[in-house]
Amino acid sequence: MTTQTAPCPECEADVRIPAGAMQNELISCPDCGAELEILNLNPLELALAPDVEEDWGE
Ligand SMILES: [Zn+2]
Repeated sequence: MTTQTAPCPECEADVRIPAGAMQNELISCPDCGAELEILNLNPLELALAPDVEEDWGE
């Protein structure tokens, strides 16, 4: 099995997708630290995960 990589949507660094990663899984970019969501595994597609803000609600 080959290690898959996809470009980070934030900084375009190659982000390694862990073996056995699932769709909708969250990973973080090792380069810029952005939280990324695996939108699609085939073809591999990453998107920035929605920000979890402290001021959410209340
Ligand atoms: Zn990045």
